[in-house]
Amino acid sequence: MIQLTTAAQLENAINKARTVKPFVRVNRFGSYTVTNKATGATYTVTCEKRGGKRFVHCTCKAGELDKECYHVASAASVHIQLAAEAASFAN
Ligand SMILES: [Zn+2]
Repeated sequence: MIQLTTAAQLENAINKARTVKPFVRVNRFGSYTVTNKATGATYTVTCEKRGGKRFVHCTCKAGELDKECYHVASAASVHIQLAAEAASFAN
């Protein structure tokens, strides 16, 4: 699990995601399947909030070492969008 604290934390991963352009599938709110279309590699990213802190996890090698990977960056952007939409419906 990686705790997300700053936006800059994911900067390198976001840049990589822009290059790779992986496909993100929503399993449910907080669980995403990220596929690298070039290699076919598929990983599961989970995003959760615990005690007001945001945590992310990815099943890839970097993720298992608690490093920010581009799968997390891709899934987090979808997650933030879904969370914003959910919040707008709640109002
Ligand atoms: Zn990953």
